[in-house]
Amino acid sequence: MEIAIIAHDGKKAEMVQFLNEWKEVLLQKQISLISTGTTGKKVKKAGFEVTRLLSGPLGGDAQIAARVAEGKCNMVLFFRDPLEKHPHEPDVLMLLRICDVHDVPLATNPATAELLMRGLTL
Ligand code: PGA
Repeated sequence: MEIAIIAHDGKKAEMVQFLNEWKEVLLQKQISLISTGTTGKKVKKAGFEVTRLLSGPLGGDAQIAARVAEGKCNMVLFFRDPLEKHPHEPDVLMLLRICDVHDVPLATNPATAELLMRGLTL
């Protein structure tokens, strides 16, 4: 199973914390992580194996959307920062839409991500 993780700058620390909380399940279920560039850098630094794509503003969200469309990515955890402006907002919206088109589970905040991860343990 492949999970994409993306976190806007104000949410990157929360993403690392979240992954640390779910480390065991990620290992147990042999989940591969893919991420946008800067999120991936932080997550890698925290000791996780992750395939880094381009940074979000340079097309990373679009790359993840392509993997969702191709059926390669099975879940998206996207910790968005609703209080900041983002130059790549069109790409972000495109990713959300593609998840809906392909009925791929998508969390845009840690509370929902938690519920999705719990779902994997059932
Ligand atoms: P980043 O991209 O991980 O490269 O910061 C995230 C985003 O803003 O989409």
